[in-house]
Amino acid sequence: MQTTLSDTYRNTPEGDVAERILRSCVHCGFCLATCPTYQILGNELDSPRGRIYLMKQVFEGATPTAKTQLHLDRCLTCRNCETTCPSGVEYGKLLDIGRHIVEETVGRGVTETATRTALKTGLSTPGLFNTALKLGQSMRSLMPGFLQTRIPAAEAAGDWPAPRHARRMLVLQGCVQPGLKPNINAATARVLDRIGISLIAAEEAGCCGALAHHLNDTEDGLNAARRNIDAWLPHLDAGVEAIVMTASGCGVMVKDYGWLLRHDPRYADKAARISAATKDISETLAAERDALAAHRSPLTKKRIAYHPPCTLQHGQKLTGGVEALLMQAGFELTPVAEKHLCCGSAGTYSILQPDIANQLKTRKLGHLQAGAPEMIVTANIGCLTHLQSGSQIPVRHWVELLDEALAPS
Ligand code: SF4
Ligand code: SF4
Repeated sequence: MQTTLSDTYRNTPEGDVAERILRSCVHCGFCLATCPTYQILGNELDSPRGRIYLMKQVFEGATPTAKTQLHLDRCLTCRNCETTCPSGVEYGKLLDIGRHIVEETVGRGVTETATRTALKTGLSTPGLFNTALKLGQSMRSLMPGFLQTRIPAAEAAGDWPAPRHARRMLVLQGCVQPGLKPNINAATARVLDRIGISLIAAEEAGCCGALAHHLNDTEDGLNAARRNIDAWLPHLDAGVEAIVMTASGCGVMVKDYGWLLRHDPRYADKAARISAATKDISETLAAERDALAAHRSPLTKKRIAYHPPCTLQHGQKLTGGVEALLMQAGFELTPVAEKHLCCGSAGTYSILQPDIANQLKTRKLGHLQAGAPEMIVTANIGCLTHLQSGSQIPVRHWVELLDEALAPS
């Protein structure tokens, strides 16, 4: 697409990236058919092509308005459009830059700013989040049904095997996941322990930074990345093989540390090293399939429906790996239509854009339940809690089921 950047952005780091991406879009519109917000709202400005055009206008000198911000806010950052695009348009990178510029120019009202700050701080600070969660769980039985669906009951983690193997991997504990579903990382540790890998966590690491990053607080997001890099590098130096992600939303962020910190002279190389060492748990286990097969148990397995998170299939471009591991373990996967479409969770999107998020959730659950599964599984804590809030059958992380299906070591 012909693009002429304004003096403000020409020959700037962000402007150069934006110009390259804008020029790669040929305006064909193939991406419209797979954009969830375009499917629901039917407005070109709520499609990838429309948003690209809005951002192009800003980079060419137009002053963004609250309407520009609204259409960018409504984007789920699911990156389904990237998977569809025949020209390889890096929409996610363009959106990051565009949203940041629009945020700085248009700003937010007092209430909206307070809500976004509360979400960013409350969700990314485990101490705050866990205290609020425990309070909510203690009062859960007194709450009306719709609120109960929002607050999951307290769960036990199960054993986390003590490190005993020469092979070691790190895990990102995450911010909300240990409070909501402590068994996910413990189950991951048990699965890896069976095949000769000890899973450890670096206490100094914390939130991956995605929450702040997607709420346009770029510096907070980068500071979270720098803290995690400092926490993990000594472990890599000591021989840890990989940094394992059990939430695909965190994984896509950590794999991007190298890109996000490329202009930071102190962290660029370190960030690239961390990103290269980062693996989704499905990638880690796919490389260990023979070892896993030796632990296969003959017990009857469930019929399950799998929801691949956008951050796994579109963000990390990982498809088919989870399904292959579950089938190898003996699970029957029910057919699911529209697997490529977002469930509406998208980080804080389900809170900030509840109408669109709920429509997408209802549509997704209809497809997931169509094959009458006993259970739904997914690979990201956000999708898990969002889907569970509307589902009568359990929604769990797939690695928990794998752990339960394997024979004890
Ligand atoms: S983003 Fe890709 S699919 Fe969409 S209009 Fe541009 S070139 Fe076409
Ligand atoms: S990221 Fe998702 S919601 Fe946003 S424009 Fe692309 S397909 Fe549409």
